[in-house]
Amino acid sequence: MKNNTGKLIVAIDGHSSTGKSTFAKLIARELNYIYVDTGAMYRAVTLQCIEKGFFDKGDEPQTEPIIKELDHIHVSFRRNSETGVNETCLGNRVVEKEIRTMAVSAHVSYISTIREVREKMVMLQREIGEGGGVVMDGRDIGTVVYPEAEIKIFMTAEEEVRAERRRKELEEKGMDTDFEKVLENIRKRDRIDSGREVSPLKKAEDAVLLDNSDMTIDDQMKWFFETFRELIDETGNEG
Ligand code: C5P
Repeated sequence: MKNNTGKLIVAIDGHSSTGKSTFAKLIARELNYIYVDTGAMYRAVTLQCIEKGFFDKGDEPQTEPIIKELDHIHVSFRRNSETGVNETCLGNRVVEKEIRTMAVSAHVSYISTIREVREKMVMLQREIGEGGGVVMDGRDIGTVVYPEAEIKIFMTAEEEVRAERRRKELEEKGMDTDFEKVLENIRKRDRIDSGREVSPLKKAEDAVLLDNSDMTIDDQMKWFFETFRELIDETGNEG
C-alpha cells in the first residue's frame, strides 16, 4: 500500500543499542527521506521530568505530576544550519547532549510506560511522518505508530555486542564508560520496554528481522537495499 505521495514509510524497531539510529539515518540520507529519532522524544520528556524532580528514590516516576506536566512539555526537532543535522529541542533549548546521559537512560523506560506520555508522542510522530518519505526508529513504530508502513525492520544483536558499542559511543562523547553499568542499563531497558502494558516492544508480524551482531554498517546497508530493492525501485528512488 502506498500513501498519496508515493513515498515509503520505513519503520525500524528493536532492542536498545542495536545501532538503529545510525542505520536509520543512513537510509534516510540514501533515500532523501526525513529521519525521526523517536527515542530522543521520550528522552527529552524524561529530561524535563528529572529537572522537575518527578522521580522517587527508586527511580520510579511520579505519574500524576508527570501527566499534569505534559501540556508544558514541548518536544521538537530543529535543523542545525551549520551541521545540517536535526537536533532535539525541549521548548527553545537544544538538548541533544543532555538527553544522551546515563541519568536519562536510567529513567527513560519508566517514563515510556506512561500511557498519556505515549499518546502525546505517537500523535506528534504521526504528524511529522504525514505524507511518507520518513525513516522512523523506536520501539513501537511498526506495531503502533505506523502499522501500515511498507518497510518494517526489527533489529537485534547479542547483549554484550550492544553494550560494548554503546560504551564506546559514550566514551567518544566523554561520558560514563563502565561496561557493566552500560550492560545492566541495556538489560533493564529491554526488560521494561518488552514487558510494559502499553505498546510493548515486540516484532511486528510482518517485520523483517535483522540481527547485526556480526555485521558492519556497510553490511547492513547492503542487506537493506538487497532486501527492499524492488519496493524502493517502484517509488522511483535510487538507493
Ligand atoms: O531509542 P532509544 O534507546 O534512545 O530510546 C530510549 C527509550 O525510549 C527506550 O528504552 C524506550 O523506553 C523508549 N522508547 C519507546 N518507544 C519508542 C522509542 C523509544 O518506548 N518509539
